[in-house]
Amino acid sequence: MEIQQHLRMLHRLGLYAVPGWDGGKLLPGTNQRELSLQPPSLDQILAADYSDGLIILAGTENPFGGFVVAIDVDNGPEYWHDRQMPKGFLYDELGTQNHKRHIFVRTTDRLEGCLNLVVRGTGELVAEIKGLNLSLRSWPTIPPGKPRGYLPMSWPINPAKDPPVGTAKQLAHELAELLSRTLGESVWIKDFDRPRVQGNDHRVVPTSLAHQVDSELESRGCKLRNPSGSGWQSGFCPFHDNTNTRAFSVNLTLGWKCFSTCGSGSIFDLAHKLGLTGSPNRSTRKRNKPSQHKPVNVTWEVRF
Ligand SMILES: [Zn+2]
Repeated sequence: MEIQQHLRMLHRLGLYAVPGWDGGKLLPGTNQRELSLQPPSLDQILAADYSDGLIILAGTENPFGGFVVAIDVDNGPEYWHDRQMPKGFLYDELGTQNHKRHIFVRTTDRLEGCLNLVVRGTGELVAEIKGLNLSLRSWPTIPPGKPRGYLPMSWPINPAKDPPVGTAKQLAHELAELLSRTLGESVWIKDFDRPRVQGNDHRVVPTSLAHQVDSELESRGCKLRNPSGSGWQSGFCPFHDNTNTRAFSVNLTLGWKCFSTCGSGSIFDLAHKLGLTGSPNRSTRKRNKPSQHKPVNVTWEVRF
């Protein structure tokens, strides 16, 4: 593919290319933050020299709505289907090997810095989600020491029909779920600070209620376990079809959280949700809206 044609395609999708060098570095003296906040014009993009590498900025505002995040998948499924691409999908390229991918997506908020997805336990990095202050090297760059560069794979013909529906963190959770499913390992966001699941409900959880909740979770096949030694246990979520990714976290004195879309809350709220008690009279937390996995009429241009 002609580089000028590629640059125009990226620009049409609201992706801004800048020249790089030595594989993936920005040119010396480049202020990446400034560039992302005030991206170059199409004329400037087309006039630049990409012979030492091409980089796509992350954290830019997108003309179709939302903000761009660049997803660098180091260890994913060998084959991705378009339908697996997150909502707000813009562009996908194959990395230096079949399980490596670069995927550009819009989110409703502007991510600062990076969210790292790692395998729970081993800590192996499987994907990075990059926002403002970061960027991703791209086709036709050939990284030093790598046998080949990147290969453009697919992009939507009509990106405006696929608006972003979630925040960068929601995207990270969805991607963690997808990678957990396809890799058969539990992938989660590294250093993810535990949500304040209590909300304003500071009541002490009675031991009897904690026991009731614990045995109900056991009877529903949650298989709770506590590898970290903290009060938090992970298991299979009782509220959605979840049999291998341990999407559910619970602390019997603090609360619970589903890393998919079932929400989070206090133990009083969990007891209610499990049908053990009546309505929790002081539950003031906000419930996460389930994400909408409605099919969209997006058409794709795919190259293999
Ligand atoms: Zn769930």
